[in-house]
This record gives sequence, structure tokens and C-alpha cells, in this order.
Amino acid sequence: MKVHHADIVISAVSPAQYPESELPEIALAGRSNVGKSSFINTLIERKNLARTSSKPGKTQTLNFYNIEDVLHFVDVPGYGYAKVSKTERAKWGKMIETYLTQRSQLKAVVSLVDFRHEPSVEDVQMYQFLKYYDIPVIVVATKIDKIPRGKWNKHESMIKKAMTFEKEDTFILFSSVTKDGKQLAWNAIEKAIGY
Ligand code: GDP
Repeated sequence: MKVHHADIVISAVSPAQYPESELPEIALAGRSNVGKSSFINTLIERKNLARTSSKPGKTQTLNFYNIEDVLHFVDVPGYGYAKVSKTERAKWGKMIETYLTQRSQLKAVVSLVDFRHEPSVEDVQMYQFLKYYDIPVIVVATKIDKIPRGKWNKHESMIKKAMTFEKEDTFILFSSVTKDGKQLAWNAIEKAIGY
């Protein structure tokens, strides 16, 4: 998809604040610093619609972006902040769980993992959670430019094994530096929303 128009619609913490719209939604999840903002900005060819490296401690909200009046990207706040309290973490978990399990407009979740490392416990939990609720998943492995091509297969197998990745899901190698995987990511998103 060639994106000409992309705007923030709302930052929501509860269902009453979700946009009243039937547009299909694609949620994006991953731990902080995985490259989620860079992924969104690469897909929509903007420098900084989605702010990069949003800092811990700031309000954790679901950010809805209208993309071409065709779909919403829903930026799910990154997990893995060491500093937030247990109460904050529980609130954050509930907000995300409510959105992921109750939003009928949600068509798929882009689950971002760092291609360089073993997936974190939270990465694996997120994948298992989505499988449990039968929510289609597109796994995007970020920062592939940091790994030599000759090791790509090894890293892909390592990540898939750790997640118990299922073949019916899509796995995309991505770099916001080289733009590798940009078209494949759009293909998967367009397929998920029936575009
Ligand atoms: P977020 O916290 O998940 O939104 O992550 P950001 O998009 O802000 O990226 C975190 C850091 O990783 C920034 O310094 C980015 O420049 C860097 N980064 C993101 N994607 C890539 C990538 O594909 N390749 C490389 N080499 N660096 C990346």
C-alpha cells in the first residue's frame, strides 16, 4: 500500500475511547526498543509519525493511527519496562488483554521480535496468548541488517523454535535501515484485512 495520509486518531486506555469506526485494525506489539516505531514509519514512509523510543514512565496508551482511511494501525505500548511498578504492569496487561480479546475490528497482530536475540519470555507469552485466542499473527523479526546474511537461517530457526512458531503464521525478516521486508509486511497486512 502506498500511504499518502496517516494521522493519529486517538490515544486510548479503555474501550469507550476506541474510535467508533468499522475500519479493520492491525495491532503492533513488541518490547520497547525492538524497532516498532521504525517499522510503522517505514511502512507509511514517514520520519516520525510514530515516535521512536518513547520513554518509560510516560502514559501507556493504545495509539490508533488512521492509514489512508483503509485501516487503523494500533500501536500497543511496549512491554519490558523494568521500572514500572507491579500495579502499573497489571493495568497495562489488562488494557492490552481487553483490546486484543474484545475488539472485533482487530484482524491481526504484528508481533515484533529482535532478530539478533532469543525471544524474551514476554515475546513468547505474547505469541502463545495470540495463538490461544486464535488471533492471526504476523511475526516481524527486526534489525536483520545487523546479522550477516549467512546467519539468517540460523537466527530464523532459533526464534521459531523458541516461540514454537506455527507454520500457518507469517514470519517476515525486516530492516528499517535497508527496507528489506517492507513489501512482504504490506502483503501480509493487506491479506489480513482483505484489501
Ligand atoms: P521502539 O521502541 O520499538 O519503537 O523502537 P524504535 O523504532 O524507536 O527503535 C529503537 C532503536 O533501534 C533506535 O535506535 C532505532 O534507530 C533502532 N532500529 C530500529 N529498527 C532498526 C533496524 O531495522 N536496523 C537497525 N540497525 N536499527 C534499528
